[in-house]
This record gives sequence, C-alpha cells and structure tokens, in this order.
Amino acid sequence: MKIGILGGGQLGRMLALAGYPLGIGVRCYDPVSDSPARDVAELISGPYEDAGALARFLPGLDAVTYEFENVPAETVRLIEKTVPVYPAPRALEVGQDRLAEKEFFTALGIPTPRFQRVGSAGELEKAIGVTGLPAVLKTRRSGYDGKGQFRLLRREDATAAWQSMGGNPAILEEFVPFERELSVLAVRSRDGAAVCYPLIENVHRNGILSVSRAPYPDPLLQKTASEYAYRLMRELGYCGVFALELFHAGGRLLANEMAPRVHNSGHWSIEGADTSQFENHLRAVTGLPLGSTAARGFSGMVNIIGDHPPVERILALPGVHLHLYGKSPRPLRKLGHVTVTAGDSAGRDRLLATVRELLGA
Ligand code: AMP
Repeated sequence: MKIGILGGGQLGRMLALAGYPLGIGVRCYDPVSDSPARDVAELISGPYEDAGALARFLPGLDAVTYEFENVPAETVRLIEKTVPVYPAPRALEVGQDRLAEKEFFTALGIPTPRFQRVGSAGELEKAIGVTGLPAVLKTRRSGYDGKGQFRLLRREDATAAWQSMGGNPAILEEFVPFERELSVLAVRSRDGAAVCYPLIENVHRNGILSVSRAPYPDPLLQKTASEYAYRLMRELGYCGVFALELFHAGGRLLANEMAPRVHNSGHWSIEGADTSQFENHLRAVTGLPLGSTAARGFSGMVNIIGDHPPVERILALPGVHLHLYGKSPRPLRKLGHVTVTAGDSAGRDRLLATVRELLGA
C-alpha cells in the first residue's frame, strides 16, 4: 500500500513515520526539495502546477491525501482523475477561504464570530458598523499562524488595516474576548464511521500555537464540539482526520477555523492516545478500521519555535518525548515539539511548566 501526500512538511513526516508499522509507504510532493519528509519518505519536488512533476508523483499510489491546505484545488481535481483523493477537494476549497469557511459554519447552524466580507476600504468602514470594535481583519486566503491579520482597536486604524492586506480580499471578524481556545479533532472513515478525540485546550503566542493540553475535561463542551465536527464532516462527505478550532466564550463555543488535515494541536496523540491522529488518518484514507481515540492519561504539548531546544535537559525528564522535524532554526519557525504525559492533570501541568521554562515557551 502506498499513499501520496501533497505537502512534505512536519505533518507529512509524522504521517510517514506512522505508516511504517502498518506497512503503508508514503511518497510526498512538495515545492521545497529539502522539506522535513525527505528523511523518512520518498519526496518528489516541483511546483503544484507542474504537470510533469505530478506525473512522476502519481504512479503506484493507492490514494492521495494532503498535509497542507493551500494546495491549489485545480491540482487536486487533476489528481482525482487518476487516483482517489481523501478528503474530497471540497473540504480543501472551503478551508482555503476564510469567508467560505465562515459561511459554511453559518449554513450548518454552527456559531462563529460575527463576520463581514471586505473587498475595499469603503467596505471595511461598513463592516466595522456590523462587527463593532475591536475587530480582526484577516486575508481570506493563504493566512496561517496569525499571518495576514490586523487587529483594529479604533476606527482610525481602518486605513492602516486595509493597506496591510495589500489589496487582497479580506474578512472582518468581531474580536472575541474568549476564556480559552479549544480544538476538537475527529476522524471519519471512507464508509462514514466517525470518532472524536478528547477536547484539547490551546494557548497561542503571536498567533502561533504554543501549548496544548488534553483531555480538556468538560463533557458538555465535548458533546457540542464533537457534534459540530461530525456535522461538518458529514456535509463534506469527509474521509480522514479533521480539526476544528473553537473559542470558548460566555459559555458558548464559536467556530474559528477548520483544517482538513492532521493538526498541530493533535501532536500529543502520538504518545497520549490509543491511536495517534497520524495513524488514524492513514487508517481512514486506506480504508482500514479506525483506532480508538481514547486518551492515555493526561498529556501536554509544547511547540519548539525559532531556536534549537536544550535536547539533553529535555530528555533527562521522565514522561517527556521529543520530536524534531529536521529543520534549521529561523525566527517563528516550528522546529519540533515536546510531549509530556502523566497519570493526572497536576503531574502533567508540573512537567509542562518545566518544559515551557526550558523552551522559553
Ligand atoms: P487564526 O489564524 O484565525 O486561527 O488566528 C490565530 C489566532 O489569533 C487564534 O488562535 C486566536 O488566538 C487569535 N484570533 C483570531 N481571530 C480572533 C478573533 N476573532 N477574536 C479573538 N482572537 C482571535
């Protein structure tokens, strides 16, 4: 069995690693030839629009999936003519456009922050009247890890905010004074069976995920979040791992964004769940039975961002696991992550505090 993955970043690398024990081979496709998957998978390199390079990528693949949602939808539609693609391209198309995503949430009755389409400085003025202030202006496409965002505190910020979009279509959202950020990861098989991971609590720094803790034990919120994920996946005819990021505010859950792929907030599942998100994604797209998503104790994950970590000091701690992605340091670049696991939440939080201090996270 061989799976093709569009994108060869750390998510592709961890998918490839999860494939080994199951006898599932992986071939990644990435515009960058030294991307992190290179050490553990075949890697074909070329632009996403390069039909010749794609023709070298496809032979012998049983299915194609992705680990990066900004792959051009046309590329996926082209591949689909030869090899089955999971999840179906519609999930990619919705997830690539913040406006389409928020409209999709709304159409399915899933609460989301108030939002308005913004295509000009004049529309921004009007949109502020709907969302109120503070608000966040975001590019509709290609924004990730807080990039392409501008926080508006006062009406006078509107000109600078619109200029920062560089003429790109945008969306204005009300700023949500959330109590916490949560995410829910779910996995759906080819035949529609679906299961959710325990709810995850996330802390972002500069718009980038810094720390995750799981499970976040709140049965009512878990039920609501899982139901939202199931509803979205059902509507999309989804297959694979799906992530939904949520704001918990005033007792409600508001959908912030979805990701049609394995997700940074689920990295703890490698050691902290019966079946990791990576293994379950591969099981789903290859038509194998899904594995249990139950948590093994209490886990935490800290991203290693920008600088190499103090490896020896981290590995000297019991219950701690290090994952490096084979990348060279660069400011704000995700170089790896550390997972901690413990039998209770207090033990997990103590370990997590130590690791955060070592990493300056
Ligand atoms: P995003 O790329 O949309 O997930 O945004 C990155 C991070 O910015 C989120 O995880 C939040 O911490 C913050 N953020 C984004 N949108 C909002 C909002 N409407 N209200 C409050 N915080 C937000």
